[in-house]
Amino acid sequence: MNPDHPVDLDSLNRQLGTRTALEIIDWAVGQYGDNLAVSSSFGADSTVMLHLATRVKPDIKIITVDTGFLFPETVLFRDELARRLSLNLHIYRPALTATDFLIEHGRMWRSNPDACCAFNKREPFDRAKRELKLAAWITGIRRDQSLSRRTTPIIQGDHIGLVKLCPIAGWTGGDIHYYLLENDLPYHPLREHGYPSIGCRPEAGFCTSQVGPGENPRSGRWVGFDKTECGLHVHDQGSGI
Ligand code: SF4
Repeated sequence: MNPDHPVDLDSLNRQLGTRTALEIIDWAVGQYGDNLAVSSSFGADSTVMLHLATRVKPDIKIITVDTGFLFPETVLFRDELARRLSLNLHIYRPALTATDFLIEHGRMWRSNPDACCAFNKREPFDRAKRELKLAAWITGIRRDQSLSRRTTPIIQGDHIGLVKLCPIAGWTGGDIHYYLLENDLPYHPLREHGYPSIGCRPEAGFCTSQVGPGENPRSGRWVGFDKTECGLHVHDQGSGI
């Protein structure tokens, strides 16, 4: 058992590993109630997790971070989905606006994208977790998205001691596609233009780029840097299972 977590994560992973995504979310809602939220980037196929979670608990809190450097299409997509799914959406923003960040720090994504993500993504997200008094959060990351996600467990601890659940960790891109088709739900509009993974776009060629057919979906993120994650899914301390 992980000493940072009073729950036995190993045992829960074995139990939850045999359940469907809806059953896992239902279990989490029963366990954590209003101290549970879904984290969404409103990326390429984020609609699936938003739809699954709101089927179980229509008013479940949805947290998203607006860095100020998102594609305009992402902001539109987010606002349309929020209306369509009646999302209980909590938008968190960095301590500085994009303009003030540029004045104070310059184009940090060019020189130090880890520090840029820490300021513009990780801090607002950790602030959301504290302010919303979360005990647990749900995310739609999947093992087939990248090498760094290949061992994603269903349940783990995050770096501040909260429980993190990945109910669709084992889904494939095909599962996502058919779920969207069956439920008449949209992908992010930029996906069909060569963006299978979508994050910030502070300027052309940085943070999110187009990828070719058959390439790793996340290979267009932080091109030229040894970086594959923004930090929301990296839990150096207290995350062992
Ligand atoms: S994705 Fe790029 S612009 Fe966005 S926070 Fe990270 S480094 Fe900065």
